[in-house]
Amino acid sequence: MRFQDLGISEEVIRALTKLHYQKPLPIQEMTIPHLLAKEDVVIRSQTGSGKSAAFLIPAIQTIDWDLGKVQTLVIAPTRELSLQLIEEADAIGLYRRIRSVLLNGKAKYEPQIQRLKRAHLAIGTPGRIRDHIERGTLDLSALRYLVLDEADVLLDMGFLALIQQIMEKVPESCTIALCSATIDESLEELIHTYLHDPRMLSN
Ligand code: AMP
Repeated sequence: MRFQDLGISEEVIRALTKLHYQKPLPIQEMTIPHLLAKEDVVIRSQTGSGKSAAFLIPAIQTIDWDLGKVQTLVIAPTRELSLQLIEEADAIGLYRRIRSVLLNGKAKYEPQIQRLKRAHLAIGTPGRIRDHIERGTLDLSALRYLVLDEADVLLDMGFLALIQQIMEKVPESCTIALCSATIDESLEELIHTYLHDPRMLSN
């Protein structure tokens, strides 16, 4: 299986080649077709499996560049993970010239607000994302993909209420990807409440 066979565009493949991603990893082969088909997914896998690219590739590929609005939002439990994710997103979106914004807590608001005016993709931690939604500086009306990365850690860190507040503002048509190493009861309830008939994927 090659990235071409999954319907990945030449511009994105060029960036993947630069990253030395020669062919899709198993979790990517499983996930990418569902996300391109706009089906919700629950990805059960450990870090190191290539799960970040599994959701970033389809999200980046389908961004409507001319629509200078946030179309993908990734929520991560820590600033370190957000930073790692945005670096990978920027590398995958290089030849599409995707504009990203890192919405981390503890950073200054103003530069984030400036970048949010033109960003296609946003990645950050729950508190800051919720703040931007409340201030009206993060507009979710054009959102196509919402990703909850390390959802088990998000809940362990006590972010459930914040996640719920964010999910309530997400348009009905948005595709949701939830990644987690384990799925316990509280996560099952979150999945049941907000995801539409998700495909359960694991490797
Ligand atoms: P993750 O599980 O998303 O943290 O990814 C683990 C590592 O796999 C990262 O260092 C990625 O750079 C790398 N990676 C992701 N996709 C591929 C691929 N298709 N081929 C080779 N390496 C990859």
